[in-house]
Amino acid sequence: MSKTAPFYNGAPGFPYKTMTTNTNPPTTPDTASPPEAQPKSAATVAAGWLHTAKFLTTAPQLHFLPVLEVPEIAFVGRSNAGKSTCINTLTQQKQLAFASKKPGRTQHINLFALGKQGITDAVLTDLPGYGYAAVPKQDKIRWQQVMANYLVTRENLKGIVLMCDPRHGLTELDEILLDIVRPRVQDGLKFLIVLTKADKLTRTEANKILSITKLQAGGGEVRLFSATKRIGIDEVSLILWNWAHPAAQSAAATQ
Ligand code: GDP
Repeated sequence: MSKTAPFYNGAPGFPYKTMTTNTNPPTTPDTASPPEAQPKSAATVAAGWLHTAKFLTTAPQLHFLPVLEVPEIAFVGRSNAGKSTCINTLTQQKQLAFASKKPGRTQHINLFALGKQGITDAVLTDLPGYGYAAVPKQDKIRWQQVMANYLVTRENLKGIVLMCDPRHGLTELDEILLDIVRPRVQDGLKFLIVLTKADKLTRTEANKILSITKLQAGGGEVRLFSATKRIGIDEVSLILWNWAHPAAQSAAATQ
């Protein structure tokens, strides 16, 4: 099948208008202005943007994915790392990523479109969780290949978010993934390790795992995150917004 194969879900074309990049920078609050005149904070802009996430399509294999030109941000991680909860928290939607947990879809690549006023300006990709013990070995191997292929060949891939439960640290499969993406990260692909369930750590434990993971991240960033205690949500939201809107970011920096 060619790369321009139609959507796996049978849709004849892209279910959105055009794919342009919004270049309006998120601004920082102006404390001197009266409340009604204050521009939205950068974190509010990023959160509003993430909230627009809508299910776009699902694909059992790489070649069924639509070819897209907008920036794509992939979420990867071991099963149970907290990936679905993180995606739902960032997009402020209860069920969005749990679509990926529906029977028959757990091994699929699920895409969510982002963008204001119906104009898609980025896509979030939820890749199947790996390392789940009950999955037959053959399926595991097949999935590692699909994922490796995706991470190496997906042309519009702009950034990768690796979810990690800090109580387990980076696992062998996480390390394999890091090795796979390292050349692309060296070429400018963005990379972020999200240490989930940070509410389960003491401050000392959190600082320790943060330092260790920063050493392992090979040029990527690392953030602590907790859906339940709402730690790191603004920070991660802003990182993703900036990845998808680099022109706006540099415009804001030069203002
Ligand atoms: P996934 O398999 O990576 O998509 O993981 P899930 O999002 O389904 O989460 C796995 C388990 O971790 C579930 O029981 C969640 O309730 C729990 N979990 C996820 N995020 C957090 C968090 O921030 N704090 C705590 N304490 N538990 C979490």
